[in-house]
Amino acid sequence: MIPSTAAELRRAGLVRALRAVHAAGGQHTRARLARELSCTRATAAALVADLAELGLVAEGAAAPSGRRGRPTTALTPAPGGPVVVVLEIAVDAVRDAAVGLGGRLGEIRAAPLASHEPDRVLGLARAALHERLRAAGRRCAGVAISMYGIVEQPTGVVASAPNLGWDDVDVLPHLGVPAGLPVLVDNVAHLSALADARRGRGRGLGCVLYLHAAVGLGGALVLDGSPLRGRRGFAGEYGHLPLGEHGLPCRCGARGCWETEVDQLALARAAGRETPPHAAAATATALLAGAATDPQARRAVHDVARGLGRGIGALVNAHDPDLVVLAGHAAAVHAAAPDVVHDAAGHAALRVHRGALPPIVPTAFGEDGGLVGAAESLFDRLLEDPIALAASTEARS
Ligand SMILES: [Zn+2]
Repeated sequence: MIPSTAAELRRAGLVRALRAVHAAGGQHTRARLARELSCTRATAAALVADLAELGLVAEGAAAPSGRRGRPTTALTPAPGGPVVVVLEIAVDAVRDAAVGLGGRLGEIRAAPLASHEPDRVLGLARAALHERLRAAGRRCAGVAISMYGIVEQPTGVVASAPNLGWDDVDVLPHLGVPAGLPVLVDNVAHLSALADARRGRGRGLGCVLYLHAAVGLGGALVLDGSPLRGRRGFAGEYGHLPLGEHGLPCRCGARGCWETEVDQLALARAAGRETPPHAAAATATALLAGAATDPQARRAVHDVARGLGRGIGALVNAHDPDLVVLAGHAAAVHAAAPDVVHDAAGHAALRVHRGALPPIVPTAFGEDGGLVGAAESLFDRLLEDPIALAASTEARS
């Protein structure tokens, strides 16, 4: 909608100003805001005054820039402003944190999982969530959940979480999120991809391909800052593209899936160390660490690195991304044998990409991308209405 009335124009200005302060992660100034919004300093000052009145943004003296001209004003998220409670249901633990405007992740707490039984896992998640909700009080603006599994949208039902052994688990009714509080559930790869595209190396880029491997491999394509979710939220299952060379059987029932030749189980197998899924991370880590000195480990790492690179080349042909971000085991394999990955990607890529492959870089967030991205995704929605956000959280000081 194109704003027409004065009230709509003011609201549109507040949205843009608040998004800018949030995106800058606490490092913004009033002069830069005026430039970004293509408005006068007076208009920027009026928008900031409104956001400060709403309890969302605080103003302070900016550090001297060393340049001549009028001093500018630093803009930061208001202390005491709204926070989003984020929860991640991973394979080894339930983790939780709080994230304020500006996107900085607070202290992460983790409750290790002794069982994958849904009632047990969701019981722990519920306890962690409610402790966070009590701590945040009225500042809590919503709850966002990162899930190690394929999540149906818009229902938020976990359609499949192979590493937890879950199918069709509706997590939200178990968690007791207070009525009226905005909530989302999404796949960890989609959310991590969002985090890297917005706040990692992919910032400002139009097309970022993100790949995460552990046991299995998934990812997401982020276009202009939004992960491609597909019709029901199931997009990004790159591990099940038939990019494997050896036609090996996959856990999904098909043959030749890419992940059968590149994930942690594949690395263990390539080294002659067949391992059960729960031990795959430790085996893969040991093999990657040993690759410098142990020829068998090195051959296995190179086999997997070639497979990883081949698939990346194929996906470069499909998507022509600006940047490829690797996380988890995929990042570790690339770190151990970057040239092998790069050469294999080059061989698989079309001539137009050779010599101009996009950079392949590790995630900026380690294992925390899901939590950062969960907050980012919910703030996307909340920042659409700064006045409602302020009112809902009683952020006024
Ligand atoms: Zn498969």
